[in-house]
Amino acid sequence: MELKPLLRSLVPGDFAGLIADVGAPSYRAQQVKQWAFVQDAMQWDQMGNLPHSLRECLSAKFDLRGLELQERQVSTDHTRKFLFRLRDGHTIESVIIPMKDHATFCLSTQVGCAMACTFCATARGGLVRHLEPGEVIEQILHLRADLEDHPVPGMGDRQFNVVFMGMGEPLDNWDTMEPALQSMTATDGLAMSKRRIQISTSGPAAGLQRLIASAPGVGLTLSLGGSTDEERHKVMPVPGRTGLKEALGLAADYGRLAGRRVTIAWVLIQDRTDQPDQAKRLAQLLKGHNFKVNLIPLNPLDDSTLVPTADPAVLGFQKILTDAGVPTFIRASGGRDIDAACGQLRRKRQ
Ligand code: SF4
Repeated sequence: MELKPLLRSLVPGDFAGLIADVGAPSYRAQQVKQWAFVQDAMQWDQMGNLPHSLRECLSAKFDLRGLELQERQVSTDHTRKFLFRLRDGHTIESVIIPMKDHATFCLSTQVGCAMACTFCATARGGLVRHLEPGEVIEQILHLRADLEDHPVPGMGDRQFNVVFMGMGEPLDNWDTMEPALQSMTATDGLAMSKRRIQISTSGPAAGLQRLIASAPGVGLTLSLGGSTDEERHKVMPVPGRTGLKEALGLAADYGRLAGRRVTIAWVLIQDRTDQPDQAKRLAQLLKGHNFKVNLIPLNPLDDSTLVPTADPAVLGFQKILTDAGVPTFIRASGGRDIDAACGQLRRKRQ
């Protein structure tokens, strides 16, 4: 069945042309945008200030809603995991991670993923399809509404950050990411600060090159998976086709362009990525670059033999890097009592 595009796959700048095309007065463009990006309308008849004829006309061309909540899990640490059903029956995951004074939304960009990283549940079924921009935007709207309905106890402001660290490789779907980022940051879209947005990538060269070419100004996290090309290729077979030096060089170019320090994500897997000589080689690789490192102990999968690194070894790995002058932080994985690992809830429900 051929699906209509989602209204929210348009960027704010498209709405004037759309309204002109359907022969409605130009001021209607602002009203429709408001319903799409500010009032979060999920049904056409919520758009009470639009004439019935205009709503009919728009609904013949577009769908307004692309996601239905299928499951919501809440961890004892207040991490919330959402499984959304898309219009074609596929499912994606999104997560709210409560931080000290804000929430972080972790979003998906694809159904499945082609990158085949060994530590990731999403990788298991391969890539099913790319999300369209409206499906990315709508994850934010549903999570924002959930946070309003159920504020996190003790959390300060209701601001949220967005990280593209859920299912999928964002730079493998740049045709969607570019308009989605436009709608997120436009003052007549979601009006988010670029400072609050972070793209996390496994570092395929073609994707990094497209990111540099469009220079969206958002933050970048590069996941490495190894301190030599061989190690990286074993842990992350597809992105590992891009050599370490090339991936780091491209990430550094982007960081300079965006005026932002790039984060290196390093998943700590016992006996695979937690050895002291790996930490030393990593420090050498990062020398001279404006990078910081986030160490992320593995979120274990139910059916995998991979084990997270024990705390003393995590601290030892961190010390080698900090002693070498590389700012290094340990990121706790939230939601261990729910299906926290990326793609795990979706796999179970399949
Ligand atoms: S870790 Fe990210 S890039 Fe790698 S397979 Fe999983 S979703 Fe894809």
